[in-house]
Amino acid sequence: KPVTHAIGQTKVIAVLNQKGGVGKSTTSINLAAALGAMNKQVLLVDLDPQGNSSSGLGIDKGLVESCIYNVLLDDVPLQDVIIPDVCEGLDVAPATINLAGAEVELVSEMARENRLKDAVGQMRGKYDYIFIDCPPSLGLLTVNALVAADKLLIPIQCEFYALEGVTKLLDSMKRVKTRLNPSLEISGVLLTMYDNRTTLSKQVVDEVKSYFGRTVFNTLIPRTVKLSEAPSYGMPITEYDPRGKGAISYIELAKEVISRG
Ligand code: ADP
Repeated sequence: KPVTHAIGQTKVIAVLNQKGGVGKSTTSINLAAALGAMNKQVLLVDLDPQGNSSSGLGIDKGLVESCIYNVLLDDVPLQDVIIPDVCEGLDVAPATINLAGAEVELVSEMARENRLKDAVGQMRGKYDYIFIDCPPSLGLLTVNALVAADKLLIPIQCEFYALEGVTKLLDSMKRVKTRLNPSLEISGVLLTMYDNRTTLSKQVVDEVKSYFGRTVFNTLIPRTVKLSEAPSYGMPITEYDPRGKGAISYIELAKEVISRG
């Protein structure tokens, strides 16, 4: 495909929170697509067996012959499972339900924590950004993402118990940093499903900011119906509702990600 600009150093960003339903897939899809629309070359690796970021971009998982499972366990090159140009500037390495087995099957494999890192390493230099949409657990798939990534993006939903589980997540990060990936850093903490009509949302923002400080992105992702509808049309928000609040917020986030380097 024609690349209209020189690709600099590839940044690998894992979108991670072991809680389900906090906006990992929504953020992976829409941030990756926003960067793609901004003339960046982006790869989204779907590491969640539910495959929501694959189907949310219109990929029919029933037609996917090999997925990230085969990369991790059958030595299939990542290149071979990538679906190119899913939307502007964005390629996707899809997940199917087969990936659910990987968590158990990896246990007995050699170099089991490094599988994704090796695969993603082959793609460095070909993309500006590689996003990894993580499963809702801190198991071996997530450890693979922590080892493969340069940075973490942690979505936190504006709800009760927003910070629940965060200590455990940071603990996993610390252990991987000590033993397997010393240069791992946090890219940023993202507040999702923000509702400016509720005091709860505002309280959560304050609470998360006092815990994480300047690591928190200035951009807040609002709760909007359009963001929840877009995946059923297989489109990122920048295509489904380009002028709406959701698209604007993910474009703002993309700019912040670029400026954080
Ligand atoms: P995760 O990947 O962490 O499990 P999802 O991105 O799948 O979370 O989001 C969980 C649910 O919340 C989905 O139904 C999604 O459409 C919805 N959702 C996520 N972000 C928003 C938002 N900003 N506004 C409205 N609904 C959202």
